[in-house]
Amino acid sequence: MNAQNADLHCHSTVSDGLLPPAALIERAVANGVDLLALTDHDEVGGLDAAIAAAEAAGLPFVTGVEISVSWGDDQTVHIVGLGFDHRHPGLRAGLERVRGGRDARAGRIAEELAKVGIEGAYEGALKYAGNPALISRSHFARYIVERGFAPDVKTVFEHWLAKGKPGYVSHPWAELAEAVDWIHAAGGIAVIAHPGRYRLSAAERRALYAAFKDLGGEGIEVVSGAATAEEIREFAGIAREFGLLASRASDFHGPGESYTDLGRMAMLPSDLTPVWAAW
Ligand code: AMP
Ligand code: MN
Ligand code: MN
Ligand code: MN
Repeated sequence: MNAQNADLHCHSTVSDGLLPPAALIERAVANGVDLLALTDHDEVGGLDAAIAAAEAAGLPFVTGVEISVSWGDDQTVHIVGLGFDHRHPGLRAGLERVRGGRDARAGRIAEELAKVGIEGAYEGALKYAGNPALISRSHFARYIVERGFAPDVKTVFEHWLAKGKPGYVSHPWAELAEAVDWIHAAGGIAVIAHPGRYRLSAAERRALYAAFKDLGGEGIEVVSGAATAEEIREFAGIAREFGLLASRASDFHGPGESYTDLGRMAMLPSDLTPVWAAW
């Protein structure tokens, strides 16, 4: 497949995005995206609507998901799956298990927030999420902004929800091997999401890339929404060194809430093999 402006990572209201799948497709077309993947967190429930809307709009589309993974010493990393059969029972069962932990985790987050004076956060976050199995920290962040404790979600993460802050609770997500295996079983390729977002040492970072490569992982987001030019150079080097395909990703969640709009990222360095070369 050929693409100039591929965007292989974004979120809809089926996880913590602000736009329904069909509205995302419309926005992608308006922004000149020529290949899109919808990658909701641990959930493929938006893909049928996205496929239908993309077909109607004539926008090339691939299936996607962003799987939450626990790795190393209580770190969370995200693995994006692309181009799989979203009806695959093994993949669906795995994702359902991962989602199954979110509701209880949300209860614990709300308890911690209540201790620092933010009451009613479970109900408040659920109102934004719609579904207890999909409650994420983003929904808590929106509630905390609504309550007037902070001007925007970024500030909420800095004060309450990032690791080490009062509303952060540790949680067991999928194993790295499980996430890669579910994606492969369903016929897709696995991609390390936003490598610049993990607070890992240089050695831990390399261990993650090596472990992922050993498990048969295929790609890395060389260009992702918040990445700086320096990070893009770094991750291009990682793609070359580890023999990984390069992905390009906005991680768009919604107007006003994301660093980067759909398709509005830097281009991939031209010597890299893009993930879509294989399709
Ligand atoms: P969760 O899966 O519930 O841990 O929520 C993770 C989500 O929170 C990510 O997918 C982002 O949408 C959002 N998020 C994480 N860190 C930040 C941040 N520093 N600023 C804004 N949003 C963030
Ligand atoms: Mn998110
Ligand atoms: Mn992510
Ligand atoms: Mn994402």
